[in-house]
Formats: sequence, C-alpha cells, structure tokens
Amino acid sequence: MSARIAIAGGGPTGLMMGRLLAGDGHEVTIFEAAHEIGGLCRSRTVDGFVFDLAGGHIMFTKDARVQAFWDELFPDEPLVVSERHTRILHDRGCWVSYPFENALGELPLEHNLECTEGVVRAHLRRERGEPAPHDFENWVRWKMGDGVAQHFMHPYNRKLWKCDLTQMGTVWIAGRVPDAPLADVLTASLGHTTEGYTHQSVFRYPRTGGFAAIHERIARPIADRVVLGHRVQRIERVGDEWDVDGQRFDHVVSTIPLHSLPRVLADMESGPRQAASKLRWRGLVSYLLGIDAEHVQPFSWVYLPHAWQGPANRITYISNYSPENAPTGKGSIMAEVTYDGTPADASKAGRLEVARGLERAGLLDAERLVVTDAHDNPHAYIFYDLEFESKRDTVLGYLDGLPGFHAIGRFGRYDYHNSDQCLASAFDLHARMRGALARGGGPIDGAPSRG
Ligand SMILES: Cc1cc2nc3c(=O)[nH]c(=O)nc-3n(C[C@H](O)[C@H](O)[C@H](O)COP(=O)(O)OP(=O)(O)OC[C@H]3O[C@@H](n4cnc5c(N)ncnc54)[C@H](O)[C@@H]3O)c2cc1C
Repeated sequence: MSARIAIAGGGPTGLMMGRLLAGDGHEVTIFEAAHEIGGLCRSRTVDGFVFDLAGGHIMFTKDARVQAFWDELFPDEPLVVSERHTRILHDRGCWVSYPFENALGELPLEHNLECTEGVVRAHLRRERGEPAPHDFENWVRWKMGDGVAQHFMHPYNRKLWKCDLTQMGTVWIAGRVPDAPLADVLTASLGHTTEGYTHQSVFRYPRTGGFAAIHERIARPIADRVVLGHRVQRIERVGDEWDVDGQRFDHVVSTIPLHSLPRVLADMESGPRQAASKLRWRGLVSYLLGIDAEHVQPFSWVYLPHAWQGPANRITYISNYSPENAPTGKGSIMAEVTYDGTPADASKAGRLEVARGLERAGLLDAERLVVTDAHDNPHAYIFYDLEFESKRDTVLGYLDGLPGFHAIGRFGRYDYHNSDQCLASAFDLHARMRGALARGGGPIDGAPSRG
C-alpha cells in the first residue's frame, strides 16, 4: 500500500525520513522553506573556502545504525578522521584543555587554587546532602564550585545563552556538561591533565563539500520529491486526511519548529497552542573568515568565555577538518555569535568587530583576512528556561495524539539533538510507522521518545 506523506522541512531529519519512506514505495513530498536543503547542516563555498553555516559540525555518533549508514553514504570518498583538539582561551597565550576541570594545572597558580578549593568545598557540601539547585547558575556552583563558575562556566554560558543563568533550568545538562570525578580534578590540579571527555575524541568529516555533503548524499535518491522555497503555511485535518497548503496527504511528518506550529496547524487546542508559543530558542550568526594559513592553530575548536575576546563564544578551525576546506596556503575560522531576538550584526562592520575581538585574543591578524562572510541561523539552540519541560510535554502530548501527524527533529520536537541523533530518530520513527503503513492505516506502533 502506498501512502501520501508530506514532510515539512528539508533538514537532515526531513530528508532522512523522506529517503526511508520513499524507499518503501510511499509518495513522499518534502516542503523546504529555504531555496536549498540541509537546514542547520548547510555549507557554503566562498572563493575556494568551504564553510559550514551553523558553526562547526563534526560527524560523531554512538548509534551503530547511523555509523553504518554514514559509511554506506561515502563508498567513493573516505571520510577524514581527526583527533579532537579543543582548548579554552583563559587568558592571552594561556590555553587550557577542555574540559576545564580536567586541566586546572594549566591555569595560573592562583586561579588553579581558587578552582580546586571550590571543587573540594562543593564536593563536601554535596556529601553533606545539599540538594541540587533547579537553576543553572546555582547548579554550576553546587556541582563545580565557585572558582570554576567564576573562571569559566558562568562567563562562557552567559556569552552562549545570552541570559542571566538563574533563568535556565538543568534538564539539558546530562551528557552535555562534562562530569569529572573528584580524583581526576585533583590529579589535574597537580599538573597532570586528565582525559575528561572521551566522547567525540575522534571524529569524522566529509573530504569535499563540507558537512553538507552528508545530507546532499542522503537526498540524492529523492531529489525529485523536494519542493524548495515552499514554507508550509497551513496544515489541517480534513476527515481522514491532512491538507497541507491545499494538497491532500495521509500522513504529515513535521520538522517545523514547535514554537511556529500555532501559526501553521489549524484548530490547535488552546493549552498546547499557548505552551508552544512560549517555547524559547537562540539564534546564531556564523562568521566565516578566510585567513593566511600561518594563523591557523592546530586545534579543532576553541572556547572564548571572556568579553575581551569579542562577541564570539567559540571558533572552529574548519580548515583543519579537511584539506579541501581551504585553498593551498590558506586557512579558515568560523566564529559563532548567539543572540536572543535581534540577530547579531552580519554586516561588514559586524564581521570586522568579531575579527577585531579575535585579534585582541591573539587568534588572527584582521588585516590579513582574505574572505569574510556571515550567515544567520534564526533557530540554533533550544533555550531551557525553568518551565521548559512542562511546556514541551504539553505540546508533544497533544501532537503525539493527532492521528497521522508525526513531530520529529531538533526543533520539530525541541530535542537537543545533533544530526546523528536526528538520523537515529528518523530510523526509529520509520520503524514505528512501517506496520501501520503496511496495514493501510490505524495508529502507529510504540510511543515516541521525549528528551
Ligand atoms: C552551533 C551548532 C553546532 C552543531 N554541531 C553539530 C555537530 O558537530 N554534529 C552534528 O551532527 N550536529 C551538530 N549540530 C546539530 C545539527 O545542526 C542539527 O541536529 C540538525 O541540523 C537538525 O536537523 P533538523 O532537520 O531536525 O532541523 P534543521 O536542520 O533546523 O532543519 C529544519 C528545516 O526545516 C525548514 N522549515 C522550517 N519551517 C518550515 C516550514 N514551515 N515549511 C517548510 N520548511 C520549514 C528549515 O528551513 C530547515 O531547512 C549543531 C547545531 C548547532 C546550532
């Protein structure tokens, strides 16, 4: 039985769903608002430099299906394998390994002592049973102590999240904020940097075409099913079918950001509608800088926690990811600047301001820039405010009950997913839909995941 399936959004999630469902013989139509596919995983070539458009992207996964699928996608071109070399720029010329607590011995002695004492005091307080605070600002002090909070975690996260950290919850932390055992921190403090975060210690990256090469290959068998430049305006349940901008379908797979759905999904109940419109996110402008190769450090990416380092919170040395990412003798940096509301300044003046910050930090000579460009990503990070979980559960509880409507993807479910997890969730949803599609209708199998 062939079903008619509309997919809203041609990012990695929508494209993977399209490929899997079309592979089963279903009539798939992918509507993508932009004039190119790929969502946050797009890349751009400027004067021979290849840049990713939503900050540095790497291929790393714990999911065996995704790993095998990536291998299948690149039979003709071996992926470039790199060791992760990340640093925090603590002070001019003072590089500290990441994670910070595993490298306290690399700090100036006074800061090392403040951080180590804080870690020990926090540990003792927790041992005495002090409960974990619900907000991120105080959670950091509770978990890592005052020194680590002051010298890295608070300034870095304020720069990234653009808020007072007491407004943020802690549900997103597990697996994302490294959790160093006390013995490792003390060993590091004595000058032996410990291995803190083996996760992503080796990663892969496409040799040509930037990170975008992945979804471009995903989309190859379904290129004729993608409608570019079509922003889905209205999705409405009509009888047993779904009407998507005037066309009829049996199923809708939506990767549209949950906070936009109240404008698109007809007859949405008021509770979920209000909850969806109160979800929050952060945008990101990526600054794309082509430079002389002599200014390229041997790092994968560098965290810039302090205001004197300019507006960027992180830079990626993307020319280190693949030799094809920059012309011979040249190198490239991408700088990330997040925002809440009004986009960061992507004009020439804004690009120069970012470059000047990097210059102050000793990371480049702004006079030697050979390319500057910028790209705005209006939705980059989910913002975990204190009410996040209840709002998201209200919205997903409603959407997951709609027959034939499937919310999936980073913003489509408000999951803090990297693209590998998006592909894994597409494998999961496809497996769950298969039975119902073969039966010609009815509820799909199993429950969707949340988190
Ligand atoms: C700074 C940063 C670094 C990251 N690093 C990595 C990394 O190293 N490795 C990794 O694997 N992942 C990384 N990610 C995550 C990765 O970018 C996302 O997981 C992935 O792009 C999500 O795919 P998606 O299809 O769910 O959403 P998106 O990529 O956001 O795509 C959604 C698509 O839907 C379209 N759309 C929206 N509304 C409509 C509408 N109404 N009608 C039609 N189309 C619509 C959009 O135009 C977009 O193309 C990173 C993300 C960020 C922000």
